[in-house]
Amino acid sequence: MREADAIRSIKGIGEKTEKLFAKLGIRSVGDLLRYYPRDYEEYAQPVSLAELKPGKKAAVAGRIAGKVGVRSTGRLTVVTAALKEEGQSLSLTWYNMPFLRNTIASGSCYIFRGMVTEKKGRLTMEHPEVFTPEKYGEMLHTLNPIYGLTKGLTNKLVVKTMHQALEEKEIVQEYLPEDFRSHYHLAEYNFAISEIHFPRDKMNMLLGRRRLVFDEFLFFILAVRMMKEKTQDAVSHFNIKPVWETENVIENLPYPLTNAQRRVWGEIERDMTGHSLMSRLVQGDVGSGKTIVAVLALISVALNGYQGAMMAPTEVLARQHYDSITRLLEEYGIKIKVELLTGSMSAKEKRRAYDRIECGYARIIIGTHALIQDRVYYDCLALVVTDEQHRFGVKQREAFARKGGMPHVLVMSATPIPRTLAIILYGDLDISVIDELPANRLPIKNCVVDTSYRNTAYTFMKKQVREGRQCYVICPMVEESEQLEVENVLDYAAMLQEEMGEGIVVSCLHGRMRQAEKDDIMERFGRCEIQILVSTTVIEVGIDVPNATVMMIENAERFGLAQLHQLRGRVGRGKHQSYCIFMSSSKAKETRERLNILNESNDGFKIASEDLRLRGPGDLFGIRQSGMMDFKLGDVFQDAKVLKMANEAADLLLNAENDWLKNLPKHEGTSSVII
Ligand code: ADP
Ligand code: MG
Repeated sequence: MREADAIRSIKGIGEKTEKLFAKLGIRSVGDLLRYYPRDYEEYAQPVSLAELKPGKKAAVAGRIAGKVGVRSTGRLTVVTAALKEEGQSLSLTWYNMPFLRNTIASGSCYIFRGMVTEKKGRLTMEHPEVFTPEKYGEMLHTLNPIYGLTKGLTNKLVVKTMHQALEEKEIVQEYLPEDFRSHYHLAEYNFAISEIHFPRDKMNMLLGRRRLVFDEFLFFILAVRMMKEKTQDAVSHFNIKPVWETENVIENLPYPLTNAQRRVWGEIERDMTGHSLMSRLVQGDVGSGKTIVAVLALISVALNGYQGAMMAPTEVLARQHYDSITRLLEEYGIKIKVELLTGSMSAKEKRRAYDRIECGYARIIIGTHALIQDRVYYDCLALVVTDEQHRFGVKQREAFARKGGMPHVLVMSATPIPRTLAIILYGDLDISVIDELPANRLPIKNCVVDTSYRNTAYTFMKKQVREGRQCYVICPMVEESEQLEVENVLDYAAMLQEEMGEGIVVSCLHGRMRQAEKDDIMERFGRCEIQILVSTTVIEVGIDVPNATVMMIENAERFGLAQLHQLRGRVGRGKHQSYCIFMSSSKAKETRERLNILNESNDGFKIASEDLRLRGPGDLFGIRQSGMMDFKLGDVFQDAKVLKMANEAADLLLNAENDWLKNLPKHEGTSSVII
């Protein structure tokens, strides 16, 4: 079996399972091996009853006190049991597992493993796993991978398939030279792959991970270097002149541009009207007003007779940009045809858009990844803008830049990374920074609270809605999940509607909805027909509804701080005082400490650095930053050292007089190099 072989070649994988894997983007054996766990579960030393804490998952050892009870309510069979010890007790409950009655014997010892909750003042475990002490002893301290799943595909099946692939696959040729690996203390590739999936212990997992993160960064950096080679000193064949319309727009905006916005627009205009092609990154914290700067650039190329395109990472955001640009042009009486192109449009709509783009009728084109599909031909593309660049890989950026020859390139990112790292990651770009927030902003008021504060929060939201404002509530999950006790969007929205009563419209938004539904919901929220939007993190990037003043995040402890900062950036965009409520269901001190950083700072970069300082290498999984650059494992903040090392290694390798570069694997990952 080879890496490139279809996943069907693994024993036991039939058509049905193949389809399920395909949903996760796994088609080949190599894809599977690079489908890394999103977390691990450790079978830790069991604790005693007295040590249990609500809100934490734990394994507890104990003897069943009293009888094992079974009762039926409707279609549900409930098995109950209890542990008792020195005045402490724990209730155990299982639903629809009547056979357990014959498995667990009163008076015997077991290990129970599950989430501890407090119900009516009593500690409870619902649906704990049950082990005999011997069985548990065998598993003690091992790390078990937890994979991202899709409906119909269980973790167990992924684990089994992974084991088979690892056993059967022909060993991948290690492509880094031996002396090189030992210089950078990098584990061997096959070792790394096997330890990342099934670590012997934490240390080996970290060793494996370090190697794989290094690879990810190295490929990324090599790709960036290659782009730089191509674009450096590239001559611009476009004839772009400053136009008065952009000045007119600036003069008549409902707000004055900040000095930083003016400066950055100046840099862009100078680039585009110059002799060389522009390759520029605009960095600016959430809410700093990057969009208008990009829009000015698009208007400028369009009025010079060319096309300009802007790509956004989500359909919701693309639609929002499309709407706001169309509105702006109308307001100023500027006649430019704007086209929207997204994946969810019907075949007919798409064909029409393709035609208008190809014949040059459409001058400003807004869309998602759909903009870089093979079937899109541009007529005279002079500028490509990528919004929220950190959500795309280099490969997508390159594909976009290659569309229609060699256009000017502008990329925008809200991710606050230090200059040293930005230079590595965007080595091929000049960097502009919008380091100033609009003056009319009141700082957002924050609070970190536990779930007992919910009712107060709801009352507060009602009051804000009565004053004409709108609110977001973020939940981590779409539907109820058995594994995790986290708030989910669907149930939550229903509950909140009940709570808010008539007269307040609560709706929900999540990634699994059809695009038309999402658009509809966002439009209605934009028009204030919906006052409270319960959503997953799909609204994380870019969304701009200045009238929204409350952001309440449930299970805030489950998000990375950088991500929470992005979410918070959805409010505080207008003239009204805004509020952010971080609701945490964990009482742990560290969680509170982490979240308190957000309480104390509105500065994205400071937040990311503090987060890094607080997290040890053991917390690598579970909580991630906001998925920067599509790295699967690497985290630009957390692994800054490895990133710098990979950068140095790239220098070394590019200068080395050997042809090992040719031996690099051609991974299909977004952050892999295309050689
Ligand atoms: P981001 O940098 O996060 O992409 P946006 O471009 O979406 O931010 O801008 C956020 C909000 O601020 C928008 O509603 C926009 O109209 C408004 N805005 C942009 N520039 C200014 C400014 N100079 N003064 C006041 N409001 C502004
Ligand atoms: Mg934006």
